[in-house]
Amino acid sequence: MKLLIMGPPGVGKGTQAGRIRDYFDIAHLSTGDILRSEIEARSSIGTEANTYMNTGRLVPDEVLLKIVQERITKPDCVKGYLLDGFPRTIPQAEGLEKIMTDLDHKLAAVISLTADEDELVNRLVKRGQDSGRSDDTPEIIRNRQNIYWEQTAPLLDFYRSKGVLRDVDGLGKIAEITDRILNVLK
Ligand code: AMP
Repeated sequence: MKLLIMGPPGVGKGTQAGRIRDYFDIAHLSTGDILRSEIEARSSIGTEANTYMNTGRLVPDEVLLKIVQERITKPDCVKGYLLDGFPRTIPQAEGLEKIMTDLDHKLAAVISLTADEDELVNRLVKRGQDSGRSDDTPEIIRNRQNIYWEQTAPLLDFYRSKGVLRDVDGLGKIAEITDRILNVLK
């Protein structure tokens, strides 16, 4: 089972990714996590990535494509994988398509978790108040939501046109949302 998961900040993407990984016994590959461990290991990829991540910019597509190409051929991906945080750009999506075709991997579905923006903003504002994070103001949160939809909309269209996009309502109880995801994968 080869999957992608996308969702705006605050929708609970990480939680659902973990549950899907456990359900199908597949690898959960978060490109943000992979890049952070490369930085920690002080590898050449990590050093290059750090200069972009420091300033919140996207790491170049070639770097991500190389990482993903290597990662999805590792033994823990034989049963399948769930890519999280990737692709973020159309060239990444096109590159992934080529890599998967060459490896004879078939993309089963792209899960797009959706939620009402006001609801997400309220949730994140509350989380910010509880944890005392000063950057969780409604304006900054709304800005992050806008960036997500602006960046991701072309990718959703890309996958919708290929007939693999599955929209899933991301609001509700954790287990309910997992059930909805599993239902659209049937
Ligand atoms: P994340 O943990 O997914 O929010 O990613 C943290 C940072 O890693 C991002 O702000 C980017 O700088 C970088 N990153 C993660 N995934 C990608 C990607 N697919 N393309 C480019 N940069 C990425």
